[in-house]
Amino acid sequence: MPQVATVGSDASKIDYSIGGTVYPVPQDVKGSKVVYQNADGMRVDDGRYQNFKSDLKNELAIPEERIITDAVKTYAYGTDASFYRLLPQMVVKIHSEEEVKKILPYAKKHQTPVTFRAAGTSLSGQAVSDSVLLKLSHVGKNFRDYTVHEDGRKITLEPGLILGEVNRILQAHKKKGGHAVQYKMGPDPSSIDSCMVGGVVANNSSGMCCGVKQNTYHTLEDMRIVFVDGTVLDTADPASRESFLRTHQDLCAKVSNLAKKVQADADLTALIKKKFAIKCTTGYSINALVDNDAKDPIEIIKRLMIGSEGTLGFVSRATYNTVVDHPHKASCFIMFKDVDDACKAAAVLRRETTVDAVEIFDKASLRQCEKHEKIMSLVPTIPEAGKYGAALLIECRGPTDAELDQNIKAVTTSLDNANLNFLHPREETYPFSKDPAVYGTYWDVRKGLIPMVGGGREAGTSVLIEDVACEVDSLAPMTKDLMAMFEKHGYDDASCMGHALEGNLHLVFSQGFRTEKEVETYAAMMQEMCEIVAVKYKGSLKAEHGTGRNVAPFVEMEWGTKAYEIMWELKEMFDPDYVLNPGVILNRDPDVHQKFLKPKPVADPIVDMCMECGFCESNCPSRDVSLTPRQRITVYREISRLQAMENRSTEDQARLDEFLDIFSYAGDSTCAADGMCEVKCPVGINTGTLVKSIRARELEQAKNVSSVAASLGRNFASFTGVVPPFLNMVSGFHSILGDGVLKTVSGGLNKISGNLIPEWNPHMPRGAPKLPEPNHAKEKHPGVERKVVYLPSCVTRMMGPSKADANLEGVADAMMSILSKADYEVVYPKGLSDQCCGMLFNSRGFKDTALTKAAQMEEALLEASENGKYPIVVDTSPCLAEIKGSLQNPALRFSLYEPAEFIANHLLDKLEFNKVKKHVAIHVPCSSKKLGVEQTFTKLAEKCAEEVTGSGIPCCGMAGDRGMRYPELTGGSLKYLDLPKGCTDGYSTSRTCEMSLTNHSDVSFKGLVYLVDEATTAKKKASA
Ligand SMILES: Cc1cc2nc3c(=O)[nH]c(=O)nc-3n(C[C@H](O)[C@H](O)[C@H](O)COP(=O)(O)OP(=O)(O)OC[C@H]3O[C@@H](n4cnc5c(N)ncnc54)[C@H](O)[C@@H]3O)c2cc1C
Ligand code: SF4
Ligand code: SF4
Repeated sequence: MPQVATVGSDASKIDYSIGGTVYPVPQDVKGSKVVYQNADGMRVDDGRYQNFKSDLKNELAIPEERIITDAVKTYAYGTDASFYRLLPQMVVKIHSEEEVKKILPYAKKHQTPVTFRAAGTSLSGQAVSDSVLLKLSHVGKNFRDYTVHEDGRKITLEPGLILGEVNRILQAHKKKGGHAVQYKMGPDPSSIDSCMVGGVVANNSSGMCCGVKQNTYHTLEDMRIVFVDGTVLDTADPASRESFLRTHQDLCAKVSNLAKKVQADADLTALIKKKFAIKCTTGYSINALVDNDAKDPIEIIKRLMIGSEGTLGFVSRATYNTVVDHPHKASCFIMFKDVDDACKAAAVLRRETTVDAVEIFDKASLRQCEKHEKIMSLVPTIPEAGKYGAALLIECRGPTDAELDQNIKAVTTSLDNANLNFLHPREETYPFSKDPAVYGTYWDVRKGLIPMVGGGREAGTSVLIEDVACEVDSLAPMTKDLMAMFEKHGYDDASCMGHALEGNLHLVFSQGFRTEKEVETYAAMMQEMCEIVAVKYKGSLKAEHGTGRNVAPFVEMEWGTKAYEIMWELKEMFDPDYVLNPGVILNRDPDVHQKFLKPKPVADPIVDMCMECGFCESNCPSRDVSLTPRQRITVYREISRLQAMENRSTEDQARLDEFLDIFSYAGDSTCAADGMCEVKCPVGINTGTLVKSIRARELEQAKNVSSVAASLGRNFASFTGVVPPFLNMVSGFHSILGDGVLKTVSGGLNKISGNLIPEWNPHMPRGAPKLPEPNHAKEKHPGVERKVVYLPSCVTRMMGPSKADANLEGVADAMMSILSKADYEVVYPKGLSDQCCGMLFNSRGFKDTALTKAAQMEEALLEASENGKYPIVVDTSPCLAEIKGSLQNPALRFSLYEPAEFIANHLLDKLEFNKVKKHVAIHVPCSSKKLGVEQTFTKLAEKCAEEVTGSGIPCCGMAGDRGMRYPELTGGSLKYLDLPKGCTDGYSTSRTCEMSLTNHSDVSFKGLVYLVDEATTAKKKASA
């Protein structure tokens, strides 16, 4: 029997008061009867965690800063995308396979179970722990190595790589090598741009097109595994296989014997085959026991690891066979009178065609679509769907256009011959489209469905996503049963949607865990759902999201006792002491799915709709340094809960004080407020806006600081006037004193001043030279007038090139040179020396001064551009974004450009381009990315250099001068910078970002305009 204790009746009493978490047991071991047991909520520190920590530090040399035990960060890491929360005793940021290898035996020795965490986007509660969380991402380049083999048909990956990133690596590989076929990864979850390879393997994730054929189970070739005793098995290495067979004879024999036993049992073999013919991630991948020769335990072990959710071993490397990504695509969105017809259509297409994807939308999902303008213009019949109406989104692909046409024909013929009730005639109303704008809209809507439900829910509730599957022929009745079940339990917003081709439905609904009644309703609904899916339709309770804690109590219901006990047997073979993620996949507690539920206290309307999915994390520059956006929100929710308490106990007050204290640095000071989190957030949350509002509230209480800011705003010209000579003076000191002294002195001043004084680095700019005189056009040009308003930002007016780029003039000189070659008349806005977009003030929370400066700027730009008649180019991207964001007068909406955009839109036909550099790097600032300029920027650089490499950094963390005041912010973000050798120069459009990129690489970054200026000449007039 497993060593897992079930929580007794006393302990299961719900307590809402501890840490915002529904705890069934008290956490404090002192003075209470609670003793350590290896079950959720019972893993209290009776000394074992202290001992484990001490060994980590002293025996394994894991630095203290990578062992997190403070209340705020452990709370933050207690969150994954599921609706469970467990507070880890300790989070350890792991850097390498070697560390995992050493840590696991110590975890076994101290009986301190470990849970691995990749991106934490799991939905079933498998990436949380109240013991030790081993975090393998958010550590720069660690766990992010890869090798692409041959033409891309195979790839070896470390577990910290994001899946979408892997597809981009494959795209670049094809482009660079000039290969004929584009390959991609088989698994395609909609979390593709956030989830990591470790999680994808361990959850056996799939997605829209992946089906059962292209998941990890079917596309993985080899794996490197670290077992609980610290042994490493590399299945690609014959010596490693041989050694493992020798050293782990007993385990290998047990695995082989179990496979033999299963294969000899015809009924069990048939059940396993039947269950894995549809999507299934409930329980272990016991198909490994029937799909492989029982005499080959290594092959069996390799496949058993897939979908094992970190309960059998650690995956430190995976080699995948990739799949072909056909370039020709077309989609259609067809409305049906009844969900029966839609499901029947999916079954017909599966049987008769090789269609690539078929997604179903029920009436509730279609109601969400009605809010989407673009799809309503393409499919205006959506509101006509009745109570049981439904739609299918169908995609065909092909290697050539002709083959795509053949595939479409096969699909339409099957549909037309199947005697289906379309809402309107299929061919004329719902045609296939090859236009990316059209099919892109369909798929954007599909991907946005979960967030749409999530975004519309009541504040204080969670959005839950269940994930069931059945044989596609049973999809219609199962869907109807589930719809009736939701109606019965009062889930009015529940949507049934998903991968119809695979019989896989996602059930999305909002759920509160605020009262015992709400928890009871949820438990009753879950019980019924499991009975409908697992018993009535013999389906999968988890098709692709993994068992986790969510359906662990129902694995036996789905699989039957025989298969279930085999799963326990497997767990005990690999992890007899229950060190690896105990309680996940298998759990003897029948109520585990309704414990440790995560309430979502109302905090602030800016973040109340956060689903804690974690999609935003990889874009955040502070993710390695302090908190991620998701964690900022989670912690802020807890602070809000504590603040809202009417009578706080002494303990609550102490907890609140501690949270506020730690949040001040981790949540507030180290947020770059760049809003890159918003770019990846499915519900459009900008955590930076929350932080800016917190800063503004704090400043309201410090009136004297605000009045200093207002005074600075009023005397801005004097300020910008003194900075260049000051920077020149510092540069002079640098020449005399060298790097060391300045670094030490400024580092000291930075600390003493509480991060107010920026820390110096050797790439600090000199003072900017005087602005050049504005250019006058040399001749008259027919057509559009060549006149432009040029706004050199205050940063450009103050900061020149660095000491190392002594030969360069200022950015404004380069810009003026380009405009002169294009023969543009240039106008500076009036009162330039006093102008500022307001960002300097806004990012610090000085809202009023920011608004005053922005209004002043807008007035000057309106006047200079004659109310938007002439284009305005701003040489610093973040300033342009700030101006656009605060714009009041619509006249300027289409007149404002950042440099790459202006050159691409207005100057390409006026300049001759030459590739003057062999290989350059570019960094598109986060503000330009948000403005959608990334492609334009890249294409422009490609006109000037033979090879262009993007920095791959979402945001460098500089955020004006914040990165100089908190250098760890840029340091953390730019740990991910990995520029290839041979890259000589780097270009961007923000002077402060350029400085930090130079500081953290071997490449000197400067303004893009320098490259364009060097690469261009005036276009010669065509001779008559
Ligand atoms: C909005 C939303 C949509 C989603 N859509 C889909 C979808 O379409 N299809 C789909 O299949 N899933 C989907 N998911 C679920 C989830 O994104 C995937 O399961 C994903 O692959 C998890 O990866 P991760 O990096 O977040 O892993 P984590 O959540 O960090 O970890 C997942 C599991 O793997 C274990 N683990 C992590 N790394 C390792 C390792 N190196 N070795 C061993 N074990 C390890 C963890 O302990 C945990 O049990 C969605 C999630 C969200 C929030
Ligand atoms: S802010 Fe958005 S992306 Fe980030 S966790 Fe919340 S919902 Fe997800
Ligand atoms: S604004 Fe930037 S630094 Fe702040 S949470 Fe969002 S991504 Fe992170």
